[in-house]
Amino acid sequence: MTLPSSLTEFDLIERIRRRSRLREPVAIGIGDDAAVLNCASDQQLVIAQDVIVEGRHFTSDTEPELIGRKALAVNLSDLAAMAALPTAAFIGLVLPTRASAEFADRLYDGLLGLADEFEVTLAGGDTNSWDGPLMLSVTVLGTVPKGQAVTRGGATPGDWLCVTGALGGSLLSGRHLSFPPRLREAQRLRTEFHVTSMIDLSDGLSGDLRHLMATSSVGVRIDAAEIPVHLDVPNSLGFEQRLERALNDGEDFELLFTLAPEQGQRLQRSDAWNAVPVTKIGECTAERSALLWIDGQPRPLPSGGWRHPLGMSGD
Ligand code: ADP
Ligand code: MG
Repeated sequence: MTLPSSLTEFDLIERIRRRSRLREPVAIGIGDDAAVLNCASDQQLVIAQDVIVEGRHFTSDTEPELIGRKALAVNLSDLAAMAALPTAAFIGLVLPTRASAEFADRLYDGLLGLADEFEVTLAGGDTNSWDGPLMLSVTVLGTVPKGQAVTRGGATPGDWLCVTGALGGSLLSGRHLSFPPRLREAQRLRTEFHVTSMIDLSDGLSGDLRHLMATSSVGVRIDAAEIPVHLDVPNSLGFEQRLERALNDGEDFELLFTLAPEQGQRLQRSDAWNAVPVTKIGECTAERSALLWIDGQPRPLPSGGWRHPLGMSGD
């Protein structure tokens, strides 16, 4: 295979290996034919994989640190949505032949910075290059105590529908590259409250909500006035436009979850969440439709899903 002229595959892997720090449960990491992880019998393995591609999830002028960071962050967000804790990451890296050694180093600066923050071991991967756009395929492994993974499927009518953080404007502001995966918040939800279902918001509330509804066999009623609109959404827009951005922009990587009303009330009374607000935006219903209440009037919630202001298309 060809790699950037200044860099051989083995040089690059060696550079990555030197920078990767082994942590439990990884017993053997980068440098052998495969990684070896210890496993505890009271835990379950949780595995997620996401690919990010130039021109789709980032642009050709995105800082490499932010690309590396995002590649890992979107995967950590998926583990958060299962209420799992990440342990190890594997990176399939396809570099454009024009990429320099410095570029690859900077990708891993961003990736390893986030891995260190959440104590994830970079435990392996594969490296290739081609005459095409940059692609990163990341697989993350995590664990959850047996039977405690939170799925999309456990919501029941009457449950509160809640969201972490605020929504909208992520692609305009660049937050889609630098968002914090909500792993700590998800752990707190799993250990301190009985959360019945959860999903991370990658494609926008209006679209991702459908997955939770379909898997749980419930409908929802949402109070439009309660939806937390992010500061990244321009203040100059009117109420409906701001609402639409919060519903449809996508790439918020916040958690949407459900829990019984008494659990929700306890959640509202609990102390500050490291400055991450949790907001009740509605309730689950037996009637299997999605209704958005605006000024006391119900409207069918348009499933706008993904609308990409940067001209990139969603995943
Ligand atoms: P093999 O030919 O056996 O697949 P490789 O040369 O591809 O071996 O990989 C050698 C080691 O380096 C393995 O431990 C692999 O997991 C790791 N590795 C390769 N590429 C990367 C990468 N881009 N990031 C992290 N680890 C990598
Ligand atoms: Mg290989």
